[in-house]
Amino acid sequence: MAKECPICGELTLEPRTGEFRFDPPANIPGGTMVIQDAAWEECLQCGERLLSPELDNALDVEQYKRIGLLGPDKIKDARQRAGLTQAEMSQFLGIGEKTYTRWESGRSIHSKSSDNLIRLADRYPELFVQMEAQRDPNRENLIAEYFRGLDKPRESNTYAMAAHGAELDPALAGLLLERLRLIAENRRKG
Ligand SMILES: [Zn+2]
Repeated sequence: MAKECPICGELTLEPRTGEFRFDPPANIPGGTMVIQDAAWEECLQCGERLLSPELDNALDVEQYKRIGLLGPDKIKDARQRAGLTQAEMSQFLGIGEKTYTRWESGRSIHSKSSDNLIRLADRYPELFVQMEAQRDPNRENLIAEYFRGLDKPRESNTYAMAAHGAELDPALAGLLLERLRLIAENRRKG
């Protein structure tokens, strides 16, 4: 029994299963996308196709893969590895929390420059801590607080700790200390 099409209003919407073919927009390379074992509804009158959530998701995954960007799951994994909340991650990336949340839920696609930043945050979370510290108008207090906390890392600067997933190995602590000393020195000089 055919259902009513939400686009043209005719009773010509029919269930379909099998191979689904989709021609993506021109900015996505690789030509026609082909998804096997798909399920969707198609209108015999106007040609509108209504996709199942699974098919919609399969097309999204294929799209992220083709444009070489991290998919929503990978973005979330990166944030969780760094031990950051969505609010903290969006602050590090310099974007609104709502925008960031849409990337993680797959409701919108991030840019290549954001993709670079997310990959950097994943691999070198300490860089983001340093940049935040350098921008902070209250940075001398922040630096002093960080120095005081170095011997008991679990209680120190929450951003630093969050970014390290509550682990700060001695080599990294030494490196951070050195950088922070330089910042403090330059600040005093000029
Ligand atoms: Zn229709």
